[in-house]
Amino acid sequence: MIVVMKAGATEVEVAAVIDRIKDLGFTPHVSQGVERCVIGCIGDERTKPRLQSLEAMAGVESIVPILKPYKLASRQVKTGRTVLNVDGVQVGGDHVVVAAGPCSVETRQQVMETAVAVQAAGARLLRGGAFKPRSSPYSFQGMGEDGLKLLVEARAITGLPIVTEVMAPEDVDLVGSYADVLQIGTRNAQNFPLLKRVGKTTKPVFLKRGMSSTIQEFLMAAEYILSEGNPNVILCERGIRTFETMTRFTLDLSAVPVLKEESHLPVFVDPSHSSGHWRYVTPMALAAIAAGADGLLVEVHPRPAEALCDGPQALKPDTFQAMMDTLVKVAEATGRKA
Ligand code: PEP
Ligand code: MN
Repeated sequence: MIVVMKAGATEVEVAAVIDRIKDLGFTPHVSQGVERCVIGCIGDERTKPRLQSLEAMAGVESIVPILKPYKLASRQVKTGRTVLNVDGVQVGGDHVVVAAGPCSVETRQQVMETAVAVQAAGARLLRGGAFKPRSSPYSFQGMGEDGLKLLVEARAITGLPIVTEVMAPEDVDLVGSYADVLQIGTRNAQNFPLLKRVGKTTKPVFLKRGMSSTIQEFLMAAEYILSEGNPNVILCERGIRTFETMTRFTLDLSAVPVLKEESHLPVFVDPSHSSGHWRYVTPMALAAIAAGADGLLVEVHPRPAEALCDGPQALKPDTFQAMMDTLVKVAEATGRKA
């Protein structure tokens, strides 16, 4: 249920309603709009008729049911958009934000070189995997904690906050002690214990769409995180499985306007994993921004031929720079800055 407060409701009235919601056994999620305050009530569906009694309280305009299954992620509970502050980088605001870096952390030299190059080109976040979800157990699995330490060194040099993947609930504290943003990969998009675990932190979570998840399932994955109390979620469309074989996955760009309409959360696009080939990365990156994405996740490697993971889709620093130069124009054309 959503409690819609009257436009002129006082703070005291809002506080009284919040207390009553708690007394009835529900968790209130307050969204203060420009005009009015809206309070989402999350709890046992079976007892929600009890909330109807709130209608009699001072300052309450109406009680309306939340019709979407993804309640906290939906625009019904929060009409304005969510802008996250990642160590000074505003995500979901008027600036398009690009997270860039290697697929996996491989060596100090590789990480530092990439970090310095992407920062110079205008990236605002540094990506890099230390725990890698590989399809084969015989492939390079990532450097683990040593890789996280290299990312921290790169952050110290460039000032770029770090986005890195966490694969298991038991690693969340370790990865969270180094990372600024916790990435949940496509293969874990419906790993509910992991989603709940990152939901218990306050770190921003970069949630990739499952490669075979519908948009509704994607939003329900976000709901798992939000419902545990962490409001800091970034959605990322990264391509879905289709019958097409000329690209690694099929980038579902229509997910961008759909997600923006359904949810208040920032929406990113990953043109690297979706296309699987560096030559398709720039066109799809530009298309994503034109479609309204709040940011991008792009893989960059100084020597893609030597990459231990995802080399074919990595941009070299000069190509990344060229992409960023054009991106500025597309962002401006769509009313944003880059
Ligand atoms: C990655 O970002 O390196 C990655 C493994 O992405 P995805 O989970 O989308 O495949
Ligand atoms: Mn990768």
